Amino acid sequence: MAATITVPQRLADDVVLIRRDLHMHPELGYKEHRTAGIVADRLRALGYDVHEGVGGTGVVGVIKGVHPGRTIMLRADMDALPIVEERTHTYVSQAHGVMHACGHDGHVAMLLGAAALIADRKDELAGTVCLVFQPAEEGLAGAKAMIDDGLFERFHIERAYGLHLSTKYPAGVLGFREGPMYASSDSIEIDVVGVGGHGSAPHDAVDPIYTAANFITTVQQIVSRHIDPLEPAVVTIGSIHAGTTHNVIPRTCRMLGTVRAFNDSVREAMPERIERVLRSCCDSTGARYDFTYLWRYPVTENDAAQTQYARALATATVGEHMVVDASMLMGAEDFSFFAQRVPACFYTLGASGGPETSHPHHSSLFDIDEAALPNGVAMMAALAFNAPRNAP
Ligand SMILES: [Zn+2]
Ligand SMILES: [Zn+2]
Repeated sequence: MAATITVPQRLADDVVLIRRDLHMHPELGYKEHRTAGIVADRLRALGYDVHEGVGGTGVVGVIKGVHPGRTIMLRADMDALPIVEERTHTYVSQAHGVMHACGHDGHVAMLLGAAALIADRKDELAGTVCLVFQPAEEGLAGAKAMIDDGLFERFHIERAYGLHLSTKYPAGVLGFREGPMYASSDSIEIDVVGVGGHGSAPHDAVDPIYTAANFITTVQQIVSRHIDPLEPAVVTIGSIHAGTTHNVIPRTCRMLGTVRAFNDSVREAMPERIERVLRSCCDSTGARYDFTYLWRYPVTENDAAQTQYARALATATVGEHMVVDASMLMGAEDFSFFAQRVPACFYTLGASGGPETSHPHHSSLFDIDEAALPNGVAMMAALAFNAPRNAP
């Protein structure tokens, strides 16, 4: 392994400044123009070969070592969320209704910090390191957009690493998990189509609200009765819209939902299972339906050998007392698309320093303890200096 990584105070301070600037100027998925511009400028100033506009607003910075080795990618996502920030700190969002409420500002800042450390000691570098700043992680599959734009073919990436800040863990603690770590996430869209009529005469109508209500109740039997109790799965109807007033049976009822799983066979059986319940509910009342199943993010699956390697590297870099087992989450990550292509490890970086920095991700009160950032920088730099040379 290369020499230990230390993050100088000046660099740590700079990472905080970058993070706060990005926090004040959050941008939604595929609109990260300012963020991508800052990333590209900084990388260019550090001597990276910079490729902009990859998969929309994505940026790739490439640095080649003098020693032989593999090509690896280190990933940061750049997008924010459509949330009105309710914090009152000095670096509160200046873009009303847009907020870095998932910590992606920190991800970008840390990878730029690591970029500086890597460039500083370029003569120790082996192989090729690609710093991948991706757009639109929050539901719009920016990772897939970069892959579809030829990321792997253009840069010949052989290994992938990425991290997510997490307010579930103490600041600076690195968490690892082999195998499935985050769930798959898919969407369902349903229109139940009945026959409208007078609220006093249901026998002359086909009631889509009643039909939808049956479906919402019955669809839970998929998780409780059809799936192995040892396999996690969730079906949630998150939105239902129908009708206009007290005494009218409307013609249609629209439902939107999310489906989560941790196992490909469970996931792949979901559309059929859900539609079967929907069909039977509609058959029993005489309603029709339109059913759309939207495949979104696959399970985020960590390669066992890469995870063992990264965990050992983390122990050497930040100390054993700062490394823990990460738990599985029903949340989803589009890093999963990278992990489908090459052996990969996605890990968490604790960001909680007390009640103020323990709010859940996507909360309007979300914030991180910036004391977490140096360990994130150090781990990314450690991967850059070591993984091209000796990762499995
Ligand atoms: Zn998020
Ligand atoms: Zn996120």
